[in-house]
Amino acid sequence: MIARRMSLIDSSGIRKVFDLARTMKDPVNLSIGQPDFDVPEAVKQAAIESIKAGRNRYTVTQGIPELHASVRQLIKAGRGIEPEDVLITSGVSGGLVLAFLALVDDGDEVLIPDPYFVMYKHLANLTGGRPRFIDTYPDFKLRKEALRAAITPRTKMLVINSPCNPTGVTYSREELEGVAEVAREHDLLVLSDEIYDCFCYRPEYPSMASLYPKTLLMGGFSKSHAMTGWRLGYAAGPGEIIREMTKLQQYSFVCAPSFAQYAGVTALAAGIGNARDEYRAKRDMIYNGLKDDFDVQKPDGAFYIFPKTPWGTDQEFVEEAIKNNVLVIPGSVFSERATHFRISYAATDDTLKRGIDILNRLARSRK
Ligand code: PLP
Repeated sequence: MIARRMSLIDSSGIRKVFDLARTMKDPVNLSIGQPDFDVPEAVKQAAIESIKAGRNRYTVTQGIPELHASVRQLIKAGRGIEPEDVLITSGVSGGLVLAFLALVDDGDEVLIPDPYFVMYKHLANLTGGRPRFIDTYPDFKLRKEALRAAITPRTKMLVINSPCNPTGVTYSREELEGVAEVAREHDLLVLSDEIYDCFCYRPEYPSMASLYPKTLLMGGFSKSHAMTGWRLGYAAGPGEIIREMTKLQQYSFVCAPSFAQYAGVTALAAGIGNARDEYRAKRDMIYNGLKDDFDVQKPDGAFYIFPKTPWGTDQEFVEEAIKNNVLVIPGSVFSERATHFRISYAATDDTLKRGIDILNRLARSRK
């Protein structure tokens, strides 16, 4: 009864963790992929007002003109470019679904630096393509030599995600220039998932879209404004691709939620206050707290850190962490390797401190 393509995807890795987690009382939860603050008050008000004013119907497929203008302004200010076209999507997830459907043919190879955000792999498989992973351990940088070696005549596109979920690693401008150099050699399309651009702890955020025109840029509101449940994002880039994605949106998502689009205009005008500084301080706290007992890279962005397990496989270590009341995610959920685990530090300082103490105790317990 069920289509064959469904056998290509599974959710077992994360399901097992959450099954175990159900038994936990008052867990130290370091697994959550969204900020620990709520949607800013002004943004909530804008959503409520737009519902009360009766702006509850379908919007145009491509998204309301006001939000288009705000997104274009954001991209111009942050990246210095004017994309050919923009589409407002139902979250970055919605944009990714449309992009993969519009671009990937049977047998096409999609280059994905490993570790990766898990949707890329599943979407490549679902759309008949083949994920081709570029191993970036141990420092999680994408080197141009590794990229060049992974390109074949079947390569369709490269997906990059900087700052990265799950590693927090953020490519420097020089590293992105290296990637752009190889992409140019092969006229390669780059899908750049920049959903964590607001949480970059370098002095400036280097974006692939500024350096290489054949970039399909995706961004959103889930992380910057904690609007995860409102389902709002955008795609910007080559007109030919955005037009096909818009056509597909007509027959799938139809439009992004209308109230969220109106609130999105307010969100972009409001910015993110001092959230970046607060999360930078949390990044310092978790990194400094773990670096003596764990082999760990200092992340430059997002709110994740991806240490190597001090002993055992990722599942073994995570199961032991859960028995000790800390909820983290095994690295193999995001990787072809089973050697690391993901911590989300989008949590209160008290939760982080408790988590650091328990994890260090676990690391020392078998040294
Ligand atoms: N891309 C990355 C790298 C993410 O980490 C996430 C969410 O965790 C998404 C996309 C999905 O975001 P959205 O809520 O906008 O669909």
